[in-house]
Amino acid sequence: MKKTIITILLTLILLSGCSNIEAESDKPNVIVTLFPQYDMVRAIAKDKVNLELLLPAGVEPHSYEPTPNTIIRINESDLFVYTSDIMETWISNLFTELNDQGPIVVNSSNGVELITHLEEEHSDEEDHDEEYDPHFWLDPLNAKIMAENITAGLIEMDPENADFYQANANIYLSELDKLDQEFIDLFNRVKLNKIIYGGHFAFGYLSNRFNIEILSPYTGYSPDAEPSVSSLAELINVMQENQIKVIFYEELVDPKIARTISEQTGANIEVLHGAHNLSLEEMAQGLTYFDVMRSNIEKLKVALNYE
Ligand SMILES: [Zn+2]
Repeated sequence: MKKTIITILLTLILLSGCSNIEAESDKPNVIVTLFPQYDMVRAIAKDKVNLELLLPAGVEPHSYEPTPNTIIRINESDLFVYTSDIMETWISNLFTELNDQGPIVVNSSNGVELITHLEEEHSDEEDHDEEYDPHFWLDPLNAKIMAENITAGLIEMDPENADFYQANANIYLSELDKLDQEFIDLFNRVKLNKIIYGGHFAFGYLSNRFNIEILSPYTGYSPDAEPSVSSLAELINVMQENQIKVIFYEELVDPKIARTISEQTGANIEVLHGAHNLSLEEMAQGLTYFDVMRSNIEKLKVALNYE
């Protein structure tokens, strides 16, 4: 008799133990494509979800294509957040693969006014769609729209925790307001209005809003294209005329063009981080979107003679 009771008790303990583990793995799965969304879901949903960044740390995003296995994983997730139809050019293929039980899908650019990068020399060669600048997350005001879209997606997926998500989102949004003020202050007080950038064009939104010229030897958004000799020479000229001491390069790409220009001008090279993705090391350090953006601000202060 006693033995039976103990067995029942043990069974109950084991069962409740099991159900705890079940609940843990019962957390909704959220998959995001790029680092800004990763940072937002991490801050807003905290431990309420299992979060996965689709791009492995260290991978340059513009040439990324999901594998069939990845498509299956997205299909099995509860919430899928992507940047925009411009950034993830493979998204229309994904939509044809999604089934009825597929995830809630959030296009984080919903409501963002996408800008075009007017590059006259090559505007007739390419499809006009490709002229949209995909890097809208580098303007904190656009990041606020992203965070709001993501919060709406989380609440739709898991309405029971709506208050939790909204409270964390409010903190995140006010931090973005603070960051925005820091950019306003930066561009109000710099003496130079030219950023020399030896990478593909990523900072169009800030340059547009604050009337800062970004001079790059590259013409488009793709990091694969090679700049021409004449565009390099022109850039070196501008640097010498304006006594510009810093040339920036982009994250996750070999800065060979910036290095070449640095060798010819004596300018320092510094990374201006586009925050698409982090390196393995930065990921391990737990860097946030705010860390990346504030480090950009500090470097721009030096490069543009902030006072
Ligand atoms: Zn980019």
